[in-house]
Amino acid sequence: LSNSLQDALKKLVGAGRIDERTVNDVVKDIQRALLQSDVNVKMVMQLSKSIKERALEEDVPQGMNPREHVIRIVYEELMKIVGEGTDIPLKPQKIMMIGLQGSGKTTTTSKLAHYFQRKGLKPAVICADTFRPGAYQQLKTLCESLNVPFYGEEGNPDAVGIVERGLAEIDKYDVKIIDTAGRHSLENDLIDEMERIHAISSPDYKLLVLDAGIGQQASEQAKAFNDSIGISGVVISKLDGTAKGGGAMSAVAATDSSIAFIGVGETPQDLEKFEADRFISRLLGMGDLRSLMEKAEESLSEDELDVESMMKGKFTLKDMYKQLEAMNKMGPMKQIMQMLPLGGMGMKVSDDAYEVTGQKMAQYKTLMDSMTEEEMINPRIIGSSRIKRISIGAGSNPETVRELLKYHKQMQNAMKGMRGGKFNMKKMMKKM
Ligand code: GDP
Ligand code: MG
Repeated sequence: LSNSLQDALKKLVGAGRIDERTVNDVVKDIQRALLQSDVNVKMVMQLSKSIKERALEEDVPQGMNPREHVIRIVYEELMKIVGEGTDIPLKPQKIMMIGLQGSGKTTTTSKLAHYFQRKGLKPAVICADTFRPGAYQQLKTLCESLNVPFYGEEGNPDAVGIVERGLAEIDKYDVKIIDTAGRHSLENDLIDEMERIHAISSPDYKLLVLDAGIGQQASEQAKAFNDSIGISGVVISKLDGTAKGGGAMSAVAATDSSIAFIGVGETPQDLEKFEADRFISRLLGMGDLRSLMEKAEESLSEDELDVESMMKGKFTLKDMYKQLEAMNKMGPMKQIMQMLPLGGMGMKVSDDAYEVTGQKMAQYKTLMDSMTEEEMINPRIIGSSRIKRISIGAGSNPETVRELLKYHKQMQNAMKGMRGGKFNMKKMMKKM
């Protein structure tokens, strides 16, 4: 499945523009990937529509190839659905775990206790599962292994009473986690019990645990839980397996909730904070989504611009070369220039400087490749005979070399003008 999607996206490499047919191909493969990951059909259709529209209507940004452009649109559209995730704050609070039997509530309870413990808070746990045989022992053993206080009443079927007494018992602890019972399906007695536990404990967070492999029933279940006591966040368990969590994602969308954590194993350590980009990459069966999103950042840290010396006016062609390389990956010059506090410093950058397009940047880079090291550091030594040689060496013309030198001068002046201005270019670029 991932292969076909990768192949489809490969078709876009080198394609100067994006035509409808290629987009249709890619969208078809994305549909297949999402459906195989159990994403709801209706949602897949809506997604396809917006991806198609955007891919055909929007211009490919400077420095991106058509493939990256389409992947980014897919990513952004999926982001709209899964969202950034719920952040469970690190402070005293009550958390109630809900979900069907076997979804992973008890395991997740121990994971959360461990999580808060590691962050320096004191968690304690209540076992309100009086339904499943062995539930008490399971949680007790887990808590003992973590040295986390545990409250339960083995053999007593009164879950609501247990929660009431348990909360009094563990009152002095920071984070109180209530593990509840599930059923094989949503039955009235489960809903009823949940509502009563909810009423007596008034939890700050109600975390719905969904098995990553749950598939299409996920949405119905989540809606029922949501209608009953409300969901404040979702934990997707068992993402260490083969399931990709598409059903759970559909449930999140159907209830307008968002994901807080994912479970990636059976031990208390196997909990991760939800990261949307990772999740989406997985959903699509693509590993390189994250790296694409990190590209801009990397391009800067790998080959850092010497901002300090640039500010001192030592903006050499070498600096410009690096800058062009970085910007090539970041977007058009104008965007970058607009973020600079130029106006406040009373300086002007001509419109020409804005108009350096990606194509120009590529040309300039080729030209600089045929310059000597000395010329790169001190471009003033480049006379007209060298201009000619450089242009021939790069398969260009003297005019373009002059243009490049002029552009460099403008940039150099702009950099000088910023001296003393307090801003961090690297940070600023990262914001884009
Ligand atoms: P509950 O009935 O909702 O409390 O579910 P449990 O916490 O008892 O989990 C049911 C089963 O799923 C157990 O065998 C767990 O070990 C297993 N399980 C829970 N979470 C994960 C997970 O993230 N990864 C894996 N591989 N197994 C899990
Ligand atoms: Mg349980």
